[in-house]
Amino acid sequence: MKMGDPILCPEIKYTQLFINNEWVNSQSGKTFPTLNPCTGKEICQVQEADKADVDLAVKAARAAFRRGSPWRKLDASKRGQLMNKLARLMRENITYIASLETLDNGKPYLDAREDIIAATENIEYYAGWCDKIHGQTIPVDGSYFTFTRHEPVGVCGAIIPWNYPVQMLAWKLGPTLACGCTVVVKPAEQTPLTALYIASLIKEAGFPPGVVNILPGYGPTAGAAIAEHMDINKVAFTGSTEVGHLIMQAAGRTNLKRVSLELGGKSPFIILEDCDLDQAAMFAHAAVMNNHGQNCCAGSRTYVQESIYEEFVARCKAMAEMRIVGDPYDGMTQQGPQIDEEQFNKILGLIESGKQQGASLQCGGERQGDIGYFVKPTVFSDVTDDMRIAKEEIFGPVQSILKFKDIDEVIERANNTSYGLAAGVMTRDINKALKISQNLDAGSVWVNCYDVVKSQTPFGGFKKSGQGRELREYALHECTEIKTVTINFPEKYL
Ligand code: NAP
Ligand code: MG
Repeated sequence: MKMGDPILCPEIKYTQLFINNEWVNSQSGKTFPTLNPCTGKEICQVQEADKADVDLAVKAARAAFRRGSPWRKLDASKRGQLMNKLARLMRENITYIASLETLDNGKPYLDAREDIIAATENIEYYAGWCDKIHGQTIPVDGSYFTFTRHEPVGVCGAIIPWNYPVQMLAWKLGPTLACGCTVVVKPAEQTPLTALYIASLIKEAGFPPGVVNILPGYGPTAGAAIAEHMDINKVAFTGSTEVGHLIMQAAGRTNLKRVSLELGGKSPFIILEDCDLDQAAMFAHAAVMNNHGQNCCAGSRTYVQESIYEEFVARCKAMAEMRIVGDPYDGMTQQGPQIDEEQFNKILGLIESGKQQGASLQCGGERQGDIGYFVKPTVFSDVTDDMRIAKEEIFGPVQSILKFKDIDEVIERANNTSYGLAAGVMTRDINKALKISQNLDAGSVWVNCYDVVKSQTPFGGFKKSGQGRELREYALHECTEIKTVTINFPEKYL
């Protein structure tokens, strides 16, 4: 193990709700267990937020946002300094945070460290934006002086998933805080622990009370209370397309709060016969296997041109068979357990459907061991577009390899889905790369690489993969209102 040995049994320091910079129990007195996916056993009980707690958190966030509050009066550059301090505290505590993430989520410790580094960089990136968010002066018709102000949208809600708990927290906090908003966050019930620890660092960094509130709890209760709240101005959600529909409906039924959604995908990765085969097979394998396949932009439909199909399948099979699955605290491990029993069963069910619908199982296809939620890396060839494994988001370590003849055909087939989050293409021909990237309906297209997501690159989906964009300044647009100020400027002064 390199880069700071993991803490094998990290001490659990925070299990209460974080409201107004205080640790409090839930109003109902209820708690819920968070489990270790390696064993399915309880790690600890966590306070369970519900509507009453969301109400308290929104009150605190509203008070922190009020005109004249310490947060509203703070210079924009000072907001940036607070954010940089939070990032520094996260770096200083990276071994603890990564160890805690591995315990709660099951991802390999070295991957957890990478996640936390990326999250920290994201906070730093947005710290730099704080004093660079501004409007325009506009040469308007008539004798007026017109300018715009980009003002914080207000109290934001954030509902986040379990696959990248710290990165998803950072993606929501970064732009929200940079714009001067306040926020109420609900982490996923499967992975509340790192968000709570980071809450303690938010307090230590010196953010005023109420600016950030973190409420673990369940989606249909605490999550729905955020989506429906009449005093939340904007909600950001990352998760399933199904729940994305509910979030928009809730906004529509209540106060028409602004909604940004980052949802599922079934992303095509297109391998042309002129590609560098070694590189293509490696990227295609990583595109679907990374993070145990629990990745919204997983390249989960591998389209391979027919002349290289057999050779490509053989390489993918060899790599999947070599993938090391096991104890996530072991430095050699590439894949830990799936997040929970529900996801584990869903993945095994989809694998079963692949077998029954006539795909050729090359390797894997079953659970590994008999405790925890480990799934063997699985490769299917001879997959056709109508099979469930080619249509549904599996969110597990399952590669579906499809065959195609020519570029127009593969573009058509790749786009034949309700999703549009990401896509990839491997080729040595720039013209083919441009043709394919221009014609795919996807928010990100990667050429001769995959899953390159940086703070500087906008990220989000076409079609049912989402609404709005995260990262870069696009995320700031989601968190600001534009105000137009027009001043009568009598002609005699011109
Ligand atoms: P999910 O239900 O969409 O969960 C995402 C977040 O939404 C969690 O915090 C969840 O709370 C919350 N939530 C659930 N129901 C809600 C509701 N009615 N109102 C407000 N918030 C609600 O996803 P999942 O059940 O964990 O996973 C199901 C599938 O979603 C996966 O198989 C995968 O296909 C997809 N998924 C996509 C992403 C992504 O990055 N786009 C991430 C995770 C999952 P709880 O803590 O109670 O679940
Ligand atoms: Mg857990």
